[in-house]
Amino acid sequence: MARALITGAAGQDGYFLSRLLKSKGYEVHGLDRPGAEDRMESIEPARRWNASLLDDGALRELLSQVSPDEIYHLAAFSFVLTSADQEKSVLKNNLEATHSLLSASRELLPSSRFCFAGSAEVFGNPDHSPQSESSAIRPVTVYGVTKAACQHLMGVYRQQGYFACTATLFNHESSRRSGQFVTQKIVKTAIAIQQGKASEIRLGSMDAVRDWGYAGDYVEAMWRMLQGSEPRDYVIATGHGHTVQDFAELVFTKLGLNLQDWLIIDPELVRPPEAFPRIGDASRIKEDLGWQPVMSFEDLVDEMVQSALHSQ
Ligand code: GDP
Repeated sequence: MARALITGAAGQDGYFLSRLLKSKGYEVHGLDRPGAEDRMESIEPARRWNASLLDDGALRELLSQVSPDEIYHLAAFSFVLTSADQEKSVLKNNLEATHSLLSASRELLPSSRFCFAGSAEVFGNPDHSPQSESSAIRPVTVYGVTKAACQHLMGVYRQQGYFACTATLFNHESSRRSGQFVTQKIVKTAIAIQQGKASEIRLGSMDAVRDWGYAGDYVEAMWRMLQGSEPRDYVIATGHGHTVQDFAELVFTKLGLNLQDWLIIDPELVRPPEAFPRIGDASRIKEDLGWQPVMSFEDLVDEMVQSALHSQ
């Protein structure tokens, strides 16, 4: 039986990936922060781990004990950074931790395969759209810098013969998305309005365009990347852009509400306009590995709304 280790297993993608791998017959182990065990419900209790990625000894012990064939490194800090201390913490937790895991994996398990969950944040403010694997990597946030550096790190290890690759993930959502992202914020607030528990929705840039895909489809792409004959970086995206306004209107209409009756534009939430929309071109993975997203934008919105309604 193949064994897989997922870091950040308690998050949205960890949930979908662990279910996918289990359905394919893998023995799935999940690693996350202490206290996150409850959110790893799709992983058997005996296979939930909480070693810190910054604790080299614990990490090596874990790798030796589990001996995974495939490592999916999803763990990352992604909150908005407002101080130098926070920046330092993100550099440590994203870059240093990734290096520790990658180097220990190659040393202890040289024939393992390693997939790093990268981000479209590495493209910063692109000068063209859509972005593909050949687009310039020019992050504009410290978080983006860590994702870019880790992506380069995968490239360095790959050149040295280790099977390491980066999935450059564009925004991917689901009912498991946390409320800090605009999609889930809209869904949860709209339902609260419908139920008389909220009287407004405050949003920022309504014209901002995002390429929103379904997390369940994106984890399938990561799995395929580790089944390929060669390690290669891939952009994972739908190729379709929608505005925040489109998303919000769809949600409100589904709930029988008129968005304009409840919307307040909050200047504090408005971000600088983006000259070229962040939309991904995933033709390389379609060509090489036959992957393409299955769920439509409309169905994604539906999944989020229905699930939030049923969890009330
Ligand atoms: P990310 O910025 O792509 O990582 O994802 P978000 O879900 O945080 O934001 C997606 C887009 O929604 C961005 O262009 C934001 O400027 C826009 N947006 C508009 N209003 C809001 C809001 O109230 N919260 C957030 N998070 N984003 C908002």
